[in-house]
Amino acid sequence: MPQSLTPMLRAQLLEEIQQQRAAIYQYLQQAGYSNLLLKLDSHPLSHWPELLNQWLTPELEAKTRRLEAIQAALSQMDMGLYGLCCDCDSRIERHLLQQDPARQRCAHCDKLYSAAKKQA
Ligand SMILES: [Zn+2]
Repeated sequence: MPQSLTPMLRAQLLEEIQQQRAAIYQYLQQAGYSNLLLKLDSHPLSHWPELLNQWLTPELEAKTRRLEAIQAALSQMDMGLYGLCCDCDSRIERHLLQQDPARQRCAHCDKLYSAAKKQA
């Protein structure tokens, strides 16, 4: 991963994480989960997926998974491991990261993964 691209993708991820946070918040407010909101308020964002896991509706699950993926990508950046496929360790194609900075798999592994998921 060329170093020059990472700061840009990092900024994108940081922006998206705030959007996801707001979306989850809004969803819970509308659904009337006020106790859960209070609980989330008292925890850092990095604990949210864990807290939300017990309450998942399909809609909330999609948002929570996305939040997790973004957090994972950001911590990979911190560790210098960003942009590596989680299945085969090769570099994820640059254009794919530009499409989705939180992507965890290269094009090849992603295809295998999606096919396996469809069968399950
Ligand atoms: Zn791969």
